[in-house]
Amino acid sequence: MPFHESNSLRYFSFESFEPQKLTQGIFTRHGGVSPEPWGTLNQGGSIGDPRENVIENRRRVFAVMGRKVESIFDVWQVHGNTVVCTDQPRELDGLHQKADAILTDRAEITLFMRFADCVPIFLYDPARKVIGIVHAGWQGTVKKVVHSAIDSMVECYQSNPADVLAGIGPSIGQEHYPVGEEVVQKIQEAFGADAGDLLELQGGQHHLDLWAANRLLLEQSGVRQIEVAGICTACNTRDWYSYRAEKGKTGRFGAILALQQNGHR
Ligand SMILES: [Zn+2]
Repeated sequence: MPFHESNSLRYFSFESFEPQKLTQGIFTRHGGVSPEPWGTLNQGGSIGDPRENVIENRRRVFAVMGRKVESIFDVWQVHGNTVVCTDQPRELDGLHQKADAILTDRAEITLFMRFADCVPIFLYDPARKVIGIVHAGWQGTVKKVVHSAIDSMVECYQSNPADVLAGIGPSIGQEHYPVGEEVVQKIQEAFGADAGDLLELQGGQHHLDLWAANRLLLEQSGVRQIEVAGICTACNTRDWYSYRAEKGKTGRFGAILALQQNGHR
């Protein structure tokens, strides 16, 4: 397993991205200061964990990755399909834009997002030197947010999808993801004939495969190189926050991606 540990922080990275000039990590819950139920490396604000804990946890993640906190670009994740192509960091006391996919070609920017079961998707185009992070739960998947992100890579940076590397990170696995009829219907509307491959009946209830759904969307966008971490957050709540498995009383883990500053420019 591609895990790394530094100052008691433990994080996952995509093996297929390793040879590239990138700083990348999806952080487990280890090595932070938050008490239960957010223990310990919670990156989520407005979920009850005191703000000073969240700020210290973020500082630790950025320090381990060798990035300045001031280089952050993050957004207010709202389960939509809005994409932001950014060429500057978010001011630390500035407002968050609402979006669920963020892209940049600037090595001085550090992309950052927060998760607890929803799917983190990392994108990297080594030809155009562009990176992106996408947040896709069932709503973002139905709205095809990863499609929108690839479309924006083409529009903003002239990427060719065939050059893009994609990584589908730790998130809730099909086994642990029963969904109701409303979700089943939306998946059927969004995916048509392919919906059957994404939904499986287990004990009389449909379970949704978010990894397969987003892999399919990437393939339909022309992306050929896709790595799936295959790590279920609900199976591994010692390591990951899981909104479902912990019944909403949990934190958010951080995902960080940046172009290395001496690597490209
Ligand atoms: Zn599981």
